[in-house]
Amino acid sequence: MTKGRWTTARVVRPFGLSSGGGAALPSGARVVLAPCGRARGPDARFRLALPVADRSRSLRSPPGYCSAGFQPGIRLVTLVTRVVILAVLVLGEVQAVAQETGEAGAVGERAAVSEAALRLHRSALVVDGHNDLPWKIREKGRSSFAVLDISKPQPQLHTDLPRLVSGGVGAQFWSVWVPPDLEKKGGATRTALEQIDIVQRMIRQYPDVLEQAYSAADVVAIRARGKVASLIGIEGGHTLENSLGVLRVFYGLGARYLTLTHTDTTQWADSATDAPRHGGLTEFGEQVVQEMNRLGMLVDISHVSVETMHDVLRISRAPVIASHSSAFALAAHPRNIPDEVLLKIRDNDGVVMVNFFSGFIHPEGARVAMNMFDVLRKLRAENAAEAEITSAMEKWHKENPMPRGNVATVVDHIDHIAKVAGIDHVGLGSDFDGISITPEGLEDVSCFPHLTQEMLRRGYGEEQVRKVLGENVMRALRGAEAVAANPP
Ligand SMILES: [Zn+2]
Repeated sequence: MTKGRWTTARVVRPFGLSSGGGAALPSGARVVLAPCGRARGPDARFRLALPVADRSRSLRSPPGYCSAGFQPGIRLVTLVTRVVILAVLVLGEVQAVAQETGEAGAVGERAAVSEAALRLHRSALVVDGHNDLPWKIREKGRSSFAVLDISKPQPQLHTDLPRLVSGGVGAQFWSVWVPPDLEKKGGATRTALEQIDIVQRMIRQYPDVLEQAYSAADVVAIRARGKVASLIGIEGGHTLENSLGVLRVFYGLGARYLTLTHTDTTQWADSATDAPRHGGLTEFGEQVVQEMNRLGMLVDISHVSVETMHDVLRISRAPVIASHSSAFALAAHPRNIPDEVLLKIRDNDGVVMVNFFSGFIHPEGARVAMNMFDVLRKLRAENAAEAEITSAMEKWHKENPMPRGNVATVVDHIDHIAKVAGIDHVGLGSDFDGISITPEGLEDVSCFPHLTQEMLRRGYGEEQVRKVLGENVMRALRGAEAVAANPP
């Protein structure tokens, strides 16, 4: 049974206005829009009327952009209304409106993403710092794209290719996450290699949409070809198994950032959500940072303790990123970045990429989420299977409800980081498919235009919006490349 409401829309212009549009829809094509993030049943489907020449595209059924402005159950549509709406659609005077399927005829208003916001969004280079789809492909798709074909709508996930294109994402850091308990159990490096293999097979499987990027210049060139530049970010220094050689091999395979820890303190770096053992980085941890500088790989301080953040910012000669972290001042969770570190990120020319998880953006969410990682750690210590962990965490969330927050809550974090560190030091790191609760209006990867809309509404200039959407992190990547090219 389809729960979400779907709308028909007329595409007013191809995606990627000025930066190419390989997965573009032709002007005038009709698509069925999915309200972003709502549950969609097996009967839900995309329909798209494309000219014959376009049918060979691997993206045969892109949805429209996120339409999360829907207000469920507020109004009932009458047959007359529907006829009028369809008539308007036929005349091509509106972008979207008519309900296709849904709960008892409920209809809502189309998300208020203005023409200007959409135009800016489509022409900007949108870079997302963190998406955990590769682990979902491993767990839900048995590491197979035949089992989990992401060129088709996958409503059980936050991410599939139609919605990624619809959200205007130009470059994605795909997360190579490895469970932190493998540091003790063994197999962390092998699992990281298997996850890199999933990312690389994904890129090969969908070559019309994805292309691997190894540099900032690659990102720009791939975007100009109308594809989504795909970068690898490795999540958790335990994947190195204490070997700089492994770090260099990861770099050779395309890894362009390493998050120094995940939820657990490693043998060489303290995590934000575990007992500290080193007071930050050990001597080997410092060598890891230096080697990353030498290679041109971004050091990622998401997940690490404040002491580790300070150590990294003291040592690193290159810009440092937090690939998916929000502001501690607004949501006091240890995963977030305190103001004192934001000031150092400014001095380091780094970027904090805001995480969308309700538990990291909403003050009450942060309070509720405080012991979430302890629960997870305990489950892993008990050798729970992934499916057991998922259902146990679902139960935990039911027992520990948290407010979701919304697009404005996320933009509050952008505001704060811009206020403290400056507009040049904030970006986006959604954490889609790695988080259990999303804010209203940011339910999936098709929803990014809502952020552009909200920033414009708050008076951000176009230049400022472009920086937040992706230019800042591109500058950081170029900075890391420049440091590697000019050894001390
Ligand atoms: Zn993470």
